Amino acid sequence: MSELITYQCELKEGIHARPAGHIERLCNTFQSEVNWKNIRSGLQGSAKSALSLVATDTLLNDECEIILSGADARRAASELTALLKKLPQFEVAHEEESQVPAGYLPRSLREMQPSFIQGSRISGGVAIARPVVVKSLSFDDIMARAPMETRATAEEKQALNAGIEALKQAKLDILESKVGVEHDIIQAHLSIITDAAFQQSISHFIDNGENVWRATVLAAMDFCEILKKSSSKYIKERTLDVLDITSQLLTTVYGEHSLPQHGLNLNAASIIFADNLTPSKFLGINKKMLAGMVLTATGTTSHTAILARSLGIPTLTDIDFSTLDLQPQQEIIIDGNLALLATDPDEPLLRYYRNEMAVQRTMQQQMLSSVHQPAVSADGHRLEIAANIASVEEAEAAFNNGAEGIGLFRTEMSFMDRETPPDYAELAALYTRVMACANGKPVIFRTFDIGGDKPVDYLNLGEEENPFLGYRAIRTYPRYRDLFAMQLKAILTASSAGDAKVMIPMIASVEEIIWCREVLEAVKQAMRKEGLPFNDTISLGVMLEVPSVIFAIPEMAEYADFFSVGSNDLTQYFFAADRGNPQVANVYDNYASSFLRALQFAIDEVHRAGKWIGLCGELGASKDFLPLLIGMGFDELSMSATAIPGVKHALRELNFAQCRLMALEVLALTRSAEVKAALQTPAVKAETQKSILAPEFILFNLDAEDKNEVIKKMTDNLWLHHRTDCREHLCDDIWTREDAFSTAVGYGFAIPHTKSDHITDSTISMATLAHPIIWGDQQVDTIFMLTVCKSADSNMHMKYFSTLARKLMKEEFRNEIKNADSVDVLYNLMTRTLDV
Ligand code: PEP
Ligand code: MG
Repeated sequence: MSELITYQCELKEGIHARPAGHIERLCNTFQSEVNWKNIRSGLQGSAKSALSLVATDTLLNDECEIILSGADARRAASELTALLKKLPQFEVAHEEESQVPAGYLPRSLREMQPSFIQGSRISGGVAIARPVVVKSLSFDDIMARAPMETRATAEEKQALNAGIEALKQAKLDILESKVGVEHDIIQAHLSIITDAAFQQSISHFIDNGENVWRATVLAAMDFCEILKKSSSKYIKERTLDVLDITSQLLTTVYGEHSLPQHGLNLNAASIIFADNLTPSKFLGINKKMLAGMVLTATGTTSHTAILARSLGIPTLTDIDFSTLDLQPQQEIIIDGNLALLATDPDEPLLRYYRNEMAVQRTMQQQMLSSVHQPAVSADGHRLEIAANIASVEEAEAAFNNGAEGIGLFRTEMSFMDRETPPDYAELAALYTRVMACANGKPVIFRTFDIGGDKPVDYLNLGEEENPFLGYRAIRTYPRYRDLFAMQLKAILTASSAGDAKVMIPMIASVEEIIWCREVLEAVKQAMRKEGLPFNDTISLGVMLEVPSVIFAIPEMAEYADFFSVGSNDLTQYFFAADRGNPQVANVYDNYASSFLRALQFAIDEVHRAGKWIGLCGELGASKDFLPLLIGMGFDELSMSATAIPGVKHALRELNFAQCRLMALEVLALTRSAEVKAALQTPAVKAETQKSILAPEFILFNLDAEDKNEVIKKMTDNLWLHHRTDCREHLCDDIWTREDAFSTAVGYGFAIPHTKSDHITDSTISMATLAHPIIWGDQQVDTIFMLTVCKSADSNMHMKYFSTLARKLMKEEFRNEIKNADSVDVLYNLMTRTLDV
């Protein structure tokens, strides 16, 4: 029997390793052969091999014909079709960092007329260290080391299979302890090791009289030839992974020392120069000694590049270092942000970059420390900021981004894209790993939300006219009571490892939550009998997605410990407007007064019942809505991990008392447009006014060599205190004025100034210098720097300039400044003088 599927690729990166892995896993459960043909490229391969699939070079919009032949072809075709439809949801965006145009030098660097080699950025950051050249092994190098001896075919095959098995097991063992990018990369390597076509190709070479060494290299080279022909840069760059696996397989079969281990035991801070570095070599390096990398032949999306970015190691490519005079004892500079390399820096350039490294380090520490500070408004109101996740990897990323808990774990993801449901052991292990990431912080497990737009074939929910209004989530639990109870048991097991909570999706009536409570108690009872540990007081919550709940909160609160608004579904059911249908997007309106009043009613009802209420739909990440949601009284907001740092920062700038007043005003409005305008008008945002003068902008006894360094250090200081998002452009603006005329005003003072788009709040900075410097044609030792917002009162800038200039005419004032012996004294003096 055979079936044909026609498929048009919707994936931006085409069928690369990750989607190919999903297809390969599913196809290997079929008896049928699955032949995948890309009509555009004419290339075809077996869908049972991820490498063959990748090699078909299937890119965005390519039409493909997939022929399934075998006894189970019909069923296989329907399962594969369902998977292909779901592929876009497994795509992970590969965000390449935005590149500064090649050749751009900020003014402060240009002033020094340095000599640089221009490369391309793989990963940002700056480092000063000694160069270390590492010889990369190519397939030719590896082939040249092939042992002469070839054993009997059966013996070679046995050695190959034992090697594959051992390497696979080693990868599985480390996979357990890894999360995030490293986990994904090991997973990708596992799929190369277990790839059927790769293994068959090696066997084929052995059948033709080659030993394992030569057979593996020949098979790998064949695959790389196909990958290199791809028009996708991403797919081309997988060749390094194949090289990596080849070397690992050979050292597994022939022993640790069968391939040379080139100088990767770094014993001082080093910048590595190599043609390329395989991911496993990279992972084996002591990162404390790895200051930077120049990888001539590595692309920006290779796995080594992805790892370098995730660990923040400055890395460049497109630099041919073979002709460079790299002295092992010479300190060199790598600037990943500007993609520059200085192999023979002079002392001023080293000084510039030492300062730059210190500034970047301070900023990084500040970001890290503030992202983990509690989410509190300027006037001390505490709000929990949590994350929405669907996997352990996302949990890890969320906590690194400062999440104070998981407000929504979409657990149905581990029920989808498979043949049979997960079992208790799998779920308990997964949930316990998430609890370990949470390290005591709360995790809300939303029980499986299957049905609607998330079908799962093995449950046979059946076709429905209106799936969103049909058999979905809690509504399916009575029929699949065992599956639901098994999931509860897994969550309860994880509850002994931290603060786990259970939340039920799509609750519409009090009877449903009573039923869930009964099942929960029954599962607990069974676990007690089995002697399994769990948290007996685990919280049970209602997900508020169906509008009927709003009017049943008092009775539900008798059985539920908390509520969380799923604003995506609540909005869709409140307005009877499909959340994914653009034709009714205007009906699906979060700004509507009716919707906001319903929310306010629910919040008040929950609080009256003495329970807490959060929000975990998309609305939670909206900065426009933030003041309103706080003012309305939500206790928690849960959002995607990437939104957390921004929302926490915005919250710190808000005043809770003003947010409450604003919420009252907004709820009295009657038109959606008015609500929108009110939320988007800064006047109703409860922002705190930042003062123009503050002690942190006074630099006492500043060590600087020249005017350039003073301006750079003063603008760096504004950046470190969040007054500018772009210090280079602010610096340029200050220099524009200096280029027209020097701002030295006599008596040892200079007043550089600018009205700029690159300062967020007008600021007066001041610096007294450790020793005088030349400024134009004068010597100066005290600087006042005025940086005024373009939007500020047009006279402000000149007002401060003339007040200062007038004051500086008076000897008494000048002496007071020169005699000041601390930031405090200067700050008080300036506050009085400028009347701010
Ligand atoms: C919601 O409906 O708001 C929600 C968070 O759940 P999901 O988006 O998974 O349906
Ligand atoms: Mg929902």
